[in-house]
Amino acid sequence: MRIAIDLDGVIFDTERYFRVASEIEDVNNFGLNNKINNNELKFQERYKWSSKFCDDFYSKNVFKIEKTAGFIPGAIKVLKMLKELGNELYIISARGIFSEKQIDISNELLKNNDIDIFKKKIYKAENKRKYVISNKIDVIIDDNLQICKDLKNICKTIYFKDAPNYENTDKDIKTVYNWGEIYRYFKEKNTK
Ligand SMILES: [Mg+2]
Repeated sequence: MRIAIDLDGVIFDTERYFRVASEIEDVNNFGLNNKINNNELKFQERYKWSSKFCDDFYSKNVFKIEKTAGFIPGAIKVLKMLKELGNELYIISARGIFSEKQIDISNELLKNNDIDIFKKKIYKAENKRKYVISNKIDVIIDDNLQICKDLKNICKTIYFKDAPNYENTDKDIKTVYNWGEIYRYFKEKNTK
């Protein structure tokens, strides 16, 4: 099976670090009543921030967080197990759109943690659909519910939800809360 995995919030624990940093930034700059919706995945949509403020916040934090956030618990272990089960692993991530340096950081972290086991690493994927189609992906794993909704008609979709993000009510999209549940999902598929 060809499995495509998102990086931020699925393999790397960056989204939670961004949540911490954005909360502190918001409170310190705008007080306690500036949040719009805590379920939003993107900080740009969680607060009443100007686009300039968002850009400054992002560029101030992005490299530090991407370098130090580390891996989501179980990601390394289960990715290796999925590969051993005979699956082909792909990364499809928007990382790198802001800066090429993000790609170097990602490749280095994967290499240094002995998890550079992917058939292909697709960065700067603004539109994931075309890569899912061209690489004949069977399953995608993403923490962005909208991306799961957009792709559910062309492949199986697993919504990785380990934060306040939106609840999934769509029966065609599988929700998991940790990498152990991802392992269970693929073991069940293999035995059917
Ligand atoms: Mg993500």
